[in-house]
Amino acid sequence: MAGYDYDLFVIGGGSGGVRAARVAAALGKRVGIAEESRFGGTCVIRGCVPKKLYVYASQFPEHFADAAGYGWTVPEASFDWQTLVASKDREISRLEAIYKKNVEGSGGETFHSRAMIVDPHVVLLLGKDRTVTADQILIATGGRPAAHPALPGHEHCIFSNEAFDLKELPKAIMIEGGGYIAVEFANIFHGLGVDTTLVYRGKEILSRFDMDLRRTLHETMEKKGIKILCHAVSESVSKRTDGRLDVRITGDQVLTVDQAMLAIGRIPNTENMGLEGIGIEMVTATGAIKVDRYSRTNIDNIWAIGDVTNRVQLTPVAIHEAMCFVETVFKNNPTAPDHDTIATAVFSQPEIGTVGLSEDDAVKRFADIEIYRASFRPMRHTLSGRDEKMLIKLVVDGASRKVLGAHILGPDAGEMAQLLGIPLKAGLTKDDFDRTMAVHPTAAEELVTMYKPTYRVKDGERI
Ligand SMILES: Cc1cc2nc3c(=O)[nH]c(=O)nc-3n(C[C@H](O)[C@H](O)[C@H](O)COP(=O)(O)OP(=O)(O)OC[C@H]3O[C@@H](n4cnc5c(N)ncnc54)[C@H](O)[C@@H]3O)c2cc1C
Repeated sequence: MAGYDYDLFVIGGGSGGVRAARVAAALGKRVGIAEESRFGGTCVIRGCVPKKLYVYASQFPEHFADAAGYGWTVPEASFDWQTLVASKDREISRLEAIYKKNVEGSGGETFHSRAMIVDPHVVLLLGKDRTVTADQILIATGGRPAAHPALPGHEHCIFSNEAFDLKELPKAIMIEGGGYIAVEFANIFHGLGVDTTLVYRGKEILSRFDMDLRRTLHETMEKKGIKILCHAVSESVSKRTDGRLDVRITGDQVLTVDQAMLAIGRIPNTENMGLEGIGIEMVTATGAIKVDRYSRTNIDNIWAIGDVTNRVQLTPVAIHEAMCFVETVFKNNPTAPDHDTIATAVFSQPEIGTVGLSEDDAVKRFADIEIYRASFRPMRHTLSGRDEKMLIKLVVDGASRKVLGAHILGPDAGEMAQLLGIPLKAGLTKDDFDRTMAVHPTAAEELVTMYKPTYRVKDGERI
C-alpha cells in the first residue's frame, strides 16, 4: 500500500463519493478525491436540495389561498423568479463548501479536475495534467439526464439541470416524462404560475408506485390545473419566429410553450473515463458499471457506488453504499448494501410517501393480501375549503400479518414515510400497528386506527 500515493482515490464528489472519501480519511487512510464540477454532486447542486427549495417556493400560492378560511386577508402576492434562483444559489454554494471542507477536515485531499483511469492503480487528473496512484479506486461519477437525439428539435429542449437556472420563468412549459423528476417539476412550475403540460408515454404517471396513489395524484394534479397527457410522446419541437416552441404531440396536437423539458430517465456517467481501456465490465442494457454485492467491479481493486451502478438512484442509497464500501475495504468487515424496503418520497403536491410493496406487487407474491385504506379530507383543509383528499393505505400479508407496504398521499407524506420505514424494515405486523396508541389529532393516526381491512385479495381475486 505504501508504494501508492493514496490508499483510496475517489472519482466523483457527489453524495456517495464524498461520504466514502470523508469516512475513509477519518480512519487515517490517505485519500484523494476528484470532482470535475462542484462538490456535492447531483443532489446538492442540481437535484434533491434545489428541487426541495423550489417545491417550498411553489407551495406559497396555496398557503396564501388557504389562509382566508382561517381569517387571514393576504394582500395580492407577487413572485420574483430571479430572487428564488439567487437564494438557491447562495444555499447550494454554502453546502458545496461544507462538503469540500468535510473531506479536507477529515484529512482527505480534494482535486477540482476530471479524472480517468489509465491503469488499475493509476488515475489521470485531466485538469491538473498529472497522474496519481492508488491502492483502491472508487468510481462514484453518478448520472445525468438521458438525451433524446431522435427527437427532431431536441436541441431546443432543456433538462432538469437547466430548469433550475432559467433566465426567466416561462409562461408555459411542456415536461416530458412520468417519473418522479417530471412529476415534481410539473408541480413546481404549476405552483409558480406556469401553464404546465406533462406528457407521458405510459398509461399512468409514476410507474413504480402504488396504483391508488398514482391515480389519485393524477386526478389531484389535474384538478389544480396541470394538464397530463398519458399514452403520448413529443414528436417534434420547432422554434417559432417569436422565440416560443411548438411541440407536436402524439395525435397531431401542438403545444405552444416557452420551454420544453425532457425528464425521460437518467444515464450513468461512464464515458471517456478509460473504463473500456482497463476492461471494466458494464451492464449492457443500462451502460452502468457492473458490480458484485459488495460494490466491487470485475477488477479487484476498483469499486463503484451510487447512480453510476444504476441500482437504486437515490442519495441515501449512494451514501449507504459508500458506508458499506468503507466497512468492506478498510474495516475488514465485508458488508453488502441492503436495498430492500427503501422508504422514499415524491415531492409532488400533494406529496407521496411510500415504503415496501405496492398492492399490485404484493398480490403477485402473496396468496392472501389485506388492504387497509382511508381516504379523507385532512383537517387542515376543513377551514381552508381546499377540496383535496388524503390517502393512507397499508398492504398486509393475511397469513403472517406482516405489513408489506405503506403508502401515503397528502401533506407531509415524505416525513411519514421516513418513520414508517422503521417498522416495515423491522418486519412488524398489523397487530403491532393496532397496539400503538394514536396521536390525535393528526392525519397519521389513520395508520394505527384502521382496524378492519377495506378489502382482501385472495389468490388474485378481490373480495
Ligand atoms: C432533479 C433531481 C432530483 C432528485 N431528487 C432526489 C430526492 O429528492 N431524493 C433522493 O434521494 N435523490 C434524489 N435525486 C437523486 C440523487 O441526486 C442521486 O441519486 C445522487 O446524487 C447520487 O449520488 P452519486 O454519488 O451516485 O452521484 P452524484 O451525486 O451525481 O455525483 C457524481 C459526481 O461525479 C462527478 N463526476 C462525473 N464524472 C467525473 C469524472 N470523470 N471525474 C471527476 N468527477 C466526475 C459529477 O460532476 C458529480 O458531481 C434527484 C436527482 C435529480 C436529478
